[in-house]
Amino acid sequence: MPGDSSQAPIIVIGAGIIGVCVTAYLQRDGYEVTLIDHGEPGSGASSGNGGILSGSSIIPVGMPGVAAKVPGWLLDAEGPFTLRWSYLPHIAPWLLRFLRGATRAKVEVQASALRTLLKPSLENYAPLVRDASATHLVHQHGQLYLYANEQSFSNDVRNTDIRRRNGVAIEDVIGPDLHDLEPDLGKSFTHARLVRANGHVSDPRALVQALAAHATARGATLLRGRVTGFECNGAQVTAVVTEERRHAASRVVVACGAWSKPLAEQLGDRVPLDTERGYNVVVKGPEKGPRTPTLYVDGSFGATPMDMGLRLVGTVELAGLDAPPNWKRADVLLKQGRVLYPGLAPEDDASRITRWLGFRPSLPDSLPVIGPSSRFANAYYAFGHGHVGMCGGSTTGRVIADLIAGRAPCVPIEPFSPKRF
Ligand SMILES: Cc1cc2nc3c(=O)[nH]c(=O)nc-3n(C[C@H](O)[C@H](O)[C@H](O)COP(=O)(O)OP(=O)(O)OC[C@H]3O[C@@H](n4cnc5c(N)ncnc54)[C@H](O)[C@@H]3O)c2cc1C
Repeated sequence: MPGDSSQAPIIVIGAGIIGVCVTAYLQRDGYEVTLIDHGEPGSGASSGNGGILSGSSIIPVGMPGVAAKVPGWLLDAEGPFTLRWSYLPHIAPWLLRFLRGATRAKVEVQASALRTLLKPSLENYAPLVRDASATHLVHQHGQLYLYANEQSFSNDVRNTDIRRRNGVAIEDVIGPDLHDLEPDLGKSFTHARLVRANGHVSDPRALVQALAAHATARGATLLRGRVTGFECNGAQVTAVVTEERRHAASRVVVACGAWSKPLAEQLGDRVPLDTERGYNVVVKGPEKGPRTPTLYVDGSFGATPMDMGLRLVGTVELAGLDAPPNWKRADVLLKQGRVLYPGLAPEDDASRITRWLGFRPSLPDSLPVIGPSSRFANAYYAFGHGHVGMCGGSTTGRVIADLIAGRAPCVPIEPFSPKRF
């Protein structure tokens, strides 16, 4: 019967990595799914990220001692972490929560919750990429944490210790061993740590598009449209409303990344979602670069060898969704990349160097929101994955499918509850 929501598909809003993974796992359970996005699949944060599938990315952004750094963020527009003055009044409540969460005890809880979500990333991607014939995009070549010098390596005890206590196997790679592994690395670098279990995606946008294409081949409907709200009946959402029309829904999943906040609010949950903007620079046909995806700890940026070239990613800019890009931040990434890999892109050749700005969907405690709406029994959230959405996408998809099927979720979801704020 037209308009009968119990016969209607599940509507997943947002075709980033989270939305397509949710769709894939729902389809594996036999559900009919409609995926709605106002852009192309994979055109949000999921397109230009570093692609690292890092089960060791469990250190929240807000660590003890971070408060002392905030004044510096306001003064240095090109530092690894910056806050635009004009955005300060808007983000102040987020910032206060962020600072309040930066205690030793809370960090332990956050790290352990992130570990449960991120550790099974590759395992939970495996069936999806196999079904979508996308195994060529997902790799397990490990990840290197690179340090400026021995002192920085030695000082990074706290984070390394948290990782090890959460079961991450980490190997020290020092001196000649490092240069055997990374022959293009500048000779002054002598200390790194390697996590062999980590993986990476060699073209994140292509992966999202492959998963979306497979979903439609398997019967999902992919619609273009901007979702503006919902129609509800008691504690049930009955339809999703776009700028053009209504779409009857048996259940809805909000997976709109950094744009999820107003939709969650309409579903009864006020969550302090904001965005940590990040940049990338891609050098096509790089002369030099890493063999292993690398996070340069002292510069807070990553270098990932990808299908389209070397992608340098990173920086956090608190400036909201609407402010224009500050491309100088991307230029800093390239400048630092040239220090790591001497000989990389000596000329600023625009035909082979591109820049990108993306919007990480970030909660102040560095944990996503995954779980049911507080008010509507058939509405679910899957957003706010901050720095780790590419990695956390597969497990998030499985969790949402578990919840909708009435199974116990494959990882505990209490830490990700929308009610925790
Ligand atoms: C510089 C940078 C580097 C990163 N590196 C890594 C990394 O190495 N590893 C990692 O795991 N993560 C990384 N991340 C984080 C990761 O990219 C994000 O966490 C992840 O992409 C979020 O996915 P998403 O699907 O929630 O959001 P998005 O990819 O942003 O998708 C949301 C989608 O929702 C759509 N949408 C929004 N509003 C509406 C609406 N009202 N109606 C319909 N559609 C709507 C948008 O068009 C978009 O397609 C990085 C991020 C950045 C910025």
